[in-house]
Amino acid sequence: MDKFHKIILENEDIRVRIYYITLSIASIALTISLIADIFQGFNRPVLILVGVGVVFLIALWFLSVYLHIENLGKHLLIYFFNLVLFPKIFIYSGGITCGLLLAFLISLVIIGILLEGKSRIIAYLISIVSMEITIYYSYAYQDKIKFLNYKDSIIDYCVTLLIVSLTIIYLVGLMLKAYNDERTKTQELNQRLQELSVKDELSGLYNRRELFRRLNSIYRSVSGSQIPASKQDCYIAMFDIDNFKRLNDTYGHQFGDKVLSAVAHILMESATEDDGEIAARYGGEEFVIIIRATSVHDALERVDQIRKDIESIRWDNVPDLVVTVSGGLSSCESFDNVDLVIQDADEHLYKAKHEGKNQIQV
Ligand code: GH3
Ligand code: MG
Ligand code: MG
Repeated sequence: MDKFHKIILENEDIRVRIYYITLSIASIALTISLIADIFQGFNRPVLILVGVGVVFLIALWFLSVYLHIENLGKHLLIYFFNLVLFPKIFIYSGGITCGLLLAFLISLVIIGILLEGKSRIIAYLISIVSMEITIYYSYAYQDKIKFLNYKDSIIDYCVTLLIVSLTIIYLVGLMLKAYNDERTKTQELNQRLQELSVKDELSGLYNRRELFRRLNSIYRSVSGSQIPASKQDCYIAMFDIDNFKRLNDTYGHQFGDKVLSAVAHILMESATEDDGEIAARYGGEEFVIIIRATSVHDALERVDQIRKDIESIRWDNVPDLVVTVSGGLSSCESFDNVDLVIQDADEHLYKAKHEGKNQIQV
C-alpha cells in the first residue's frame, strides 16, 4: 500500500499523478457502469465492450505501477477512450440523445494535462475527428441507434453534466494546486539563492562583496537620493576580535565559530537596514558596519556601544571569558572613494590594537 501511495499520490510529476488518478477514477466508473448495465439487462455488445474496458483499465493500472510504462499508458488510455470507448458507447447509448458528448470534454482536459508538445496536438486532432465521425455515423446510420425518449434524454444529460462538471472542477483544482506549489517552491529557492549570494553563511551577515556593492552605491549616488543615500552622514566602522587566535587555541575552533556568530548577532542588531545601514563580515574575524549618524560624535557613541555590548556577552560553560573587539571609525564624507575610506578605518583599527585593544579609534 505504501508503494502505491508513493508512486501514485506522492509522485513528483503532476502528470503521472493525474494519470493514475484518471486511471483509477475511470476504472471505478466503468466497473460501476458494468454492474449497472448487467442489472439493467443491457444488450450484449455493450456489456462486452464495458467488460473489456474494465479489464483493460485494471491491467493498465497494474502494468503502469509495476513496469513504469506510464508514458505509453497515457497514450493507450487516451486513445482507448477517444477511439474505442466513447464512440461505441455513444452509438449504443442513444447517440446525440445521450449526454456522452459532455463526457468527451473531460478527455480533452485530460489530454491537455497528460500530454505535451506534438503528441498533445495530435491527440486533440485525432480525438475531435473521431467524435465528429461518430456523430456523423449516428446521422448516416440512424437505424442502428436506439434513441432515448425526451424524458430519458433530459435525465441522462442532467446526470452526465453533474459528473462532468465535478470531474473538470476537480482536475482544474488539482492542476492549479500543483502550479501554486511549484511557484511557492521556486520563489523560496530564488529567495534562498539571493540570500546565499549576498550573505555569509556562518555569521548570517552580509558578505564582503555585498558590502562593497553598497559602499560603491553610496559613493555613486547623488545626495538626497534613495537609501542608502549619499556619503553624507555615512560612517563605517571596522572591527576585529581581540586575541582571537588564542581564543581558538584555548577553546577550540568550534567555540571560536560560536563567538563569531554571537559577535555578528550584535552587529546585525545594531544596523538599521531601513536607514541603509548594514553589517558585513569583512574577513575571518573582521567586520564592517555602515552606520548613519549626524555627527562623528554620535557615530562614535553608537560604535562604542557595540563594543560594550560585545564585551558584556556571557558565555556558557566559560563564565570568566570576556571577548573584546577593537574598532576603527571613519567618515565616508572625508574620502573620495571606497578604498580610501576602508583604508582609513583599517588604519584606525590598527591604532586601536596598538594602543591596548578593546577600544575604538577615530
Ligand atoms: P589581534 O587581537 O591582534 O587581532 O589578535 P588575533 O589573535 O585576533 O589575530 P588575528 O586577527 O590575526 O587572528 C585571526 C584569527 O582568526 C586566525 C584564524 O585562525 C581565526 N579565524 C579566522 N576565521 C575564522 C573562522 O571562521 N572561525 C574560527 N573559529 N576562527 C577563525
Ligand atoms: Mg584579524
Ligand atoms: Mg583579531
